[in-house]
Amino acid sequence: MKATLAAVILIALTPLSAAQAQPTAEPFAVGTAAARPGEIAYGAIDVPAAADAATSIPVIVVKGVRPGPVVAFVAGSHGTEYTSIIALTQLAPRLDPRQLAGTVVIAPLLNVASFEQMTVHLNPVDRKGMNAQYPGDPAGTQTQRALALVAAQIVKRADLVVDLHGGDLDEDLVPYSYWMRSGKATQDAASRELALAFGLDRIIIEDVDLASPTGTRTLSGYSISLGKKVVVAEAGASGKVRPEDVAALVDGCLNVLATSHMIDRAFTPAAHPVWLGSGARVQAESPGIFAQAVRGGTYVSRGMLLGTLTDYTGRDARKITSPSAGLVTFIRGVPSAWKGATLANVAPVFVEPPPYQSAPH
Ligand SMILES: [Zn+2]
Repeated sequence: MKATLAAVILIALTPLSAAQAQPTAEPFAVGTAAARPGEIAYGAIDVPAAADAATSIPVIVVKGVRPGPVVAFVAGSHGTEYTSIIALTQLAPRLDPRQLAGTVVIAPLLNVASFEQMTVHLNPVDRKGMNAQYPGDPAGTQTQRALALVAAQIVKRADLVVDLHGGDLDEDLVPYSYWMRSGKATQDAASRELALAFGLDRIIIEDVDLASPTGTRTLSGYSISLGKKVVVAEAGASGKVRPEDVAALVDGCLNVLATSHMIDRAFTPAAHPVWLGSGARVQAESPGIFAQAVRGGTYVSRGMLLGTLTDYTGRDARKITSPSAGLVTFIRGVPSAWKGATLANVAPVFVEPPPYQSAPH
């Protein structure tokens, strides 16, 4: 009897207390950026020095006045993928926290040393990839310490993680997004809707093997392993910041917020995307001077010329041909090549998305 009475009281009180608690006046703090409802806060996640130098990761928090999910936008794991970094600096000014439901966390530039020193792919401080070391290590080198804080303060608190990339200084890339799949139907369906909402009409299907440590070391793989919804998108080529590429990423981010019912915005999801596999990376068999024969975004057949590789005297030219038919998602846009360097990536085109499989398509 008492149990029943207690239950009745609880049922009566819960909606009232929930209504009073929303929106909470507590700030949402990431590093030194703490935003109360209706506010935008700018700050940083400070990574103290240890075995190597300290760093400071810029961060923006936009807290809405209505309840809703926490969405994290991250760019600049690769600090010379400028288009994605610039896009995220332009996102907060497009948001009105007084009209927003939920919370938006924006980290435009994780790899500050890469940006400042124009070092491609890696953090020059410890020569580690900042999209390859999740969940980080508080006792490790700078990359690991930084990612441990990003994991704790951003990723774990987010319902949805958007990871932006773009054509690095050495990559002639065509814009695309990823539908990252875990093999879990509900999570995968949600991520599919988000990839379509983002709006880029080329979507690479990437199946994450949650049992494989290498599959969950990236931001997207780690986020998926925690059950988050994930979108990855890339735009920009060869380090160039073209307005249309920036706009495509900013619009995609706003579309993600719109489809998550956090902002009011009309958008058109990609209706007929080109579904792509992860594809085959073409690697250099020797060091040399590479000259691309096609641009990123070219459809090629098997055996078609992608470029040539000569030795450092300009002789011994070797034809680099496509191992398969598909879309050149990116191709090396600079002459530097070394044994094992990625020269191009050719992704197969699917008529329909194939079923999830833990090995690459
Ligand atoms: Zn990248």
